[in-house]
Amino acid sequence: MGSFTKDEKRLVEYARADLEARLKKRRAAGLLDTLVSYAMSESGKIYSGSPTNFLQVSSCVHAEMMAIGNMRNYEGDFARVKCILIAGPVPKDDLECTKPCGICRLFIYENGTAKTTVICTCYVRKKSGWDFFPRMEKYLIGRLYPYPYRDVWRH
Ligand SMILES: [Zn+2]
Repeated sequence: MGSFTKDEKRLVEYARADLEARLKKRRAAGLLDTLVSYAMSESGKIYSGSPTNFLQVSSCVHAEMMAIGNMRNYEGDFARVKCILIAGPVPKDDLECTKPCGICRLFIYENGTAKTTVICTCYVRKKSGWDFFPRMEKYLIGRLYPYPYRDVWRH
């Protein structure tokens, strides 16, 4: 995590611990592993989210939307994302760092700033427990969403 800021390192550590606790509860309830997201606001507070239905991407609230929605609910509609982490479950032979989908890139952009960073990572289920964040990639939101949609009629 050499190129991560102090806040980003704190977000990663928080996400790792919270994700493990969340997955243990899901497993105990007979639920599958799921994608998760952790949004740190400019105030430094961290908000988590998981999708309402991981297997129906087109008709559910996505993890990033849930985390950002939680942030706005607690801090107000003008709160901004400083950094957001996304982690999805992957097979051990394909450590793809989970990127936000197209609409979530817009969602992060509209709730962030030019400095908002996106940490993309993944985790692997093991027989006992999980291997958390074996790979991590960091992007400025402008790199993931370089040509944003702009509603010219909005004031
Ligand atoms: Zn999405």
